[in-house]
Amino acid sequence: MTCSDALRETRSTCSYCGVGCGVIIESRGATITGVRGDPDHPANFGRLCTKGSTLHLTARPEVTQQTRLLQPQLRLQRQASPLALDWDSALDLASQRLADVVQRHGPNALGFYLSGQLLTEDYYVFNKLVKGLLGSNNLDTNSRLCMSSAVAGYKITLGADAPPASYTDVDHAHCLFISGSNTAWAHPILFRRIEDAKRARPELKIVVIDPRRTDTVELADLHLALQPGTDVMLYHGMLHLMLRQGWTQPAYIAAHTHGFEALVEQVRDCTPERTAQVCGISVEDLLEATRLFATSPATLSLYCQGLNQSSSGTDKNAALINLHLATGQIGRPGAAPFSLTGQPNAMGGREVGGLSNLLSAHRDLANPVHRAEVAALWGVPDVPSVPGKSAVEMFEAAADGEIKALWIACTNPAQSLPDQATVRRALERAEFVVLQEAFATTATAAYADLLLPATTWGEKTGTVTNSERRISRVRAATPPSGEARHDWAIGVALAQRLEARLRPGQASLFPYDTQDALRGTEAIWNEHRESTRGRDLDITGLSYALLDAQGPQQWPWPSGASQGKERLYEDGVFPTPDGKARFHSTTYHPVAEARDEAYPFSLNTGRLRDQWHGMSRTGTLGRLFGHVAEPAVQVNPQDLARLGWEDGALVRVRSRRGQVVLPVQASAEQGPQQVFIAMHWGQEFLGGHDEAGQALTGVNALLPSAYCPRSKQPELKHAAVQLEAAALP
Ligand code: SF4
Repeated sequence: MTCSDALRETRSTCSYCGVGCGVIIESRGATITGVRGDPDHPANFGRLCTKGSTLHLTARPEVTQQTRLLQPQLRLQRQASPLALDWDSALDLASQRLADVVQRHGPNALGFYLSGQLLTEDYYVFNKLVKGLLGSNNLDTNSRLCMSSAVAGYKITLGADAPPASYTDVDHAHCLFISGSNTAWAHPILFRRIEDAKRARPELKIVVIDPRRTDTVELADLHLALQPGTDVMLYHGMLHLMLRQGWTQPAYIAAHTHGFEALVEQVRDCTPERTAQVCGISVEDLLEATRLFATSPATLSLYCQGLNQSSSGTDKNAALINLHLATGQIGRPGAAPFSLTGQPNAMGGREVGGLSNLLSAHRDLANPVHRAEVAALWGVPDVPSVPGKSAVEMFEAAADGEIKALWIACTNPAQSLPDQATVRRALERAEFVVLQEAFATTATAAYADLLLPATTWGEKTGTVTNSERRISRVRAATPPSGEARHDWAIGVALAQRLEARLRPGQASLFPYDTQDALRGTEAIWNEHRESTRGRDLDITGLSYALLDAQGPQQWPWPSGASQGKERLYEDGVFPTPDGKARFHSTTYHPVAEARDEAYPFSLNTGRLRDQWHGMSRTGTLGRLFGHVAEPAVQVNPQDLARLGWEDGALVRVRSRRGQVVLPVQASAEQGPQQVFIAMHWGQEFLGGHDEAGQALTGVNALLPSAYCPRSKQPELKHAAVQLEAAALP
């Protein structure tokens, strides 16, 4: 055995979900041979779910050769096969085409669309490139589809985008109030912790709010199968009951909040009877859920896409946080509203301001002081004040011809965004589409003029932040595959070429060492760290060296501190001008596209336990199809009987935007007039088309582009659909 064949172990982080589990990668030479849970990582203590524990199998050379993008490629014509080219030519071409668009149409004719899969350092470079160098705020991310409502909900109530709790709060809670989250499947290792807590303390009460009877519900003491989209009504009804029963905490409300009177007025007519009728639940269950929430010694809310992916996503988040403030269920062990992030680094992206309305370190684009602070940090004259386009807006603008060039990094909008007809028009109409991606197999790759190969899990260096504000190091176990480059290094190379055109002769704003990934990423991270000084997420006391020596840590960790904060707001002081939280008084709005006679079913979409996003990675492993082998539309058994269909019959699911044909599956998880389709499969499995006869690329194509007006997060959890018997397409 040669030295290079010796087994090496590298501590890193799982690349899938926001639980952020630590992994130990085993490798020999340039080959990853195994993975196991890191027993010292506080997110998982050695455990891994089915996805995490098979990560190494997705990096096998025989898989990589089939799935990875391994060299830059250029399409001379749309639809044509791409041709290989060298990196310098690719980057020269990219910078020339972007500069040309800027010269002809201004910087707002560019759109950059990133991903919650990127590392914090990747995000930081692209944010600085677009907002600092190019002078546009047209930078958004697929995290917009995942957690922007949670961001907005925290900010309008608690004053900052900061989840106040930790996973340890599961161990302290007396009531777990799980809303719009199938934690058992979407955050499996956190769910193991919940199972442990329930086993150790059977008196722990678990309430699950979800239209579906998911695996998470199996552990619940009480399940409220509310009608889709009625969450705000439910929370308002609960507050009405709390007031009636004397279960609020007037002393906490008076000392630490504003705006309660207006909210009391708002919920006055949300009587138990009306709430129960709107939400489709019983008054008894409503009362019991309210009692458990308000009177338990400590209530921890866990919530995710059922609240976030909604045309009233911000209101849903805020209405739930209202309940925590009204009952003082915050700032104590086991008591907090705790949003769960879907992707591994949706939090890190938020921290560096990787959304079209944000700036570094939770600063707001709309705030001139914040813009001036960031401009000074970056060494640029200013940061533009014109708000950028959010995800849906960006692709609508490209479809309308307003945005001329799209730069897409590490995400697959041709499958994941709603209203695929508009997305396809955008990708076809844009003059220049660049895809920076690890995988060649995504639906978006077919539209790219220029494909740039990026590194991925096992090859990358940097940091991510998980749902509980914990920053973990990501470390490379092997060199990049083929000619792949790190996402941040691609950004730096592009930025330096654009600088030569836009600010010739001046010192580079991007002086990071692209030859040494550790040095380069550490310099970027240190710059990000400095941007947090004095902010709510201050990490000026942290360093790569400290993370290496002491393991993953939670923010804030300001200079001089000896540890991060496990829990926020324990002193009752919130990051608002007067230190008080604000109740958010809002009206209940139903879903954007209600069921009607023509479209009588509610379509819900979501994750499966063993798949991830569009399956670029998980789809390469046969064993991950052992849980669910193929796509299906799940329908309530009574509806199925009423329609006279057998399990397995082919059914056409049609919305106002398109249709797919799938086998039907009887499922008691679904309520009457509700159907569910997993989000992972694309066009090749669904065999559907839109109303213009164009092939669809994923179930999100059926969904409307309606979004929350405040968070701009699309309503991916609901569309009105009709079902009809179908023959094979
Ligand atoms: Fe990875 Fe999430 Fe599974 Fe942990 S729970 S191993 S982070 S997919």
